[in-house]
Amino acid sequence: MKRVLITGAAGFLGSHLCDRFISEGYHVIGMDNFITGDKKNLLHLEDHPNFEFIEHDVTEFVKVEGRLDYILHFASPASPIDYLKIPIQTLKVGSLGTHNLLGLAKAKKARILIASTSEVYGDPLVHPQTEDYYGNVNTIGPRGVYDEAKRFQESITMAYHRFHGLETRIVRIFNTYGPRMRLNDGRVIPAFMGQALRGEDLTIFGDGLQTRSFCYVDDQVEGIYRLLLSDYVYPVNIGNPHEITIKAFAEEIIKLTDTKQKIVYKPLPEGDPLQRQPDIGLAKKILDWQPKVDRVEGMKTTFDYFKGLSEEELYKSEH
Ligand code: NAD
Ligand code: UDP
Repeated sequence: MKRVLITGAAGFLGSHLCDRFISEGYHVIGMDNFITGDKKNLLHLEDHPNFEFIEHDVTEFVKVEGRLDYILHFASPASPIDYLKIPIQTLKVGSLGTHNLLGLAKAKKARILIASTSEVYGDPLVHPQTEDYYGNVNTIGPRGVYDEAKRFQESITMAYHRFHGLETRIVRIFNTYGPRMRLNDGRVIPAFMGQALRGEDLTIFGDGLQTRSFCYVDDQVEGIYRLLLSDYVYPVNIGNPHEITIKAFAEEIIKLTDTKQKIVYKPLPEGDPLQRQPDIGLAKKILDWQPKVDRVEGMKTTFDYFKGLSEEELYKSEH
């Protein structure tokens, strides 16, 4: 049985990856320090014979007993309000944390896949974004703590590949959504759905003409799984190229949730990229992958998840 370590396992993507690898017959070791994750996301795996969990901060030396075949490094705050609230930890998990996991991969002779992001392209001047675009990131802007941590993460990963011959994979993830997102993480989908459920107006930042392209979690996990098992070492975009303005998206959510609320406008946060759309030509070619779940269907499943949360969770405000 292949053994895989997944960091960030109690988070949104990490917990779905744990499920996928277990269903593929792997022994999964989840690791997390719960800084933005939730124990609840892993409760269903608690007694599974092929799952074990280690509570640990990956910015400290990482120790895992026994053999490891694969490592997926997903630990990192991922939503803008999270990484603005904990900027130093964000920089540390992308740099020191990644260094620790690369060291572990080298010691165990394991293949490692690291979670990078569309944010390495910053506020992009090339549209849609192809992997060969170097990006437009403000190092000292508020988002710099996340963007530069992820850019460093890519650099050190390639250095371990080139210098130590480590087997490495890099996925550049574009906005992904689905069940188990944290309702209060400030990202646009939980924000709008939470507002609709609480009977609040939907808050659009800026004029709402900025664009994003939203990928359903099952499609994202499929892309990551294929990339891990491929022999391609350079970064690969995984996301859904169906681009939409935030204003049109808010209107879609109003329709889906059948809310009577209206849209209100708030200032655009500093450094908020104006447009984002993945070019997925590379993923199509080398992984034979493309997203299958359309937004209406994915949003419905996600809304059903949020509807199932308790009143307490719905009204819990962390920020
Ligand atoms: P998330 O916040 O739900 O999950 C991140 C998990 O990492 C949390 O459980 C958190 O507790 C854990 N973590 C953070 N710092 C840690 C540390 N020092 N030690 C151990 N655990 C730690 O976020 P997510 O959306 O699931 O994102 C997961 C990964 O995917 C991140 O690396 C993120 O940068 C990347 N990503 C996600 C998206 C997206 O749209 N969801 C887009 C681009 C990149
Ligand atoms: N956004 C918004 N209202 C909200 C939350 C977010 O208009 O309540 C906007 C945000 O300014 C950005 C887009 O939605 O332009 C996506 O934001 P998110 O935080 O989900 O992710 P990002 O792609 O910016 O990392």
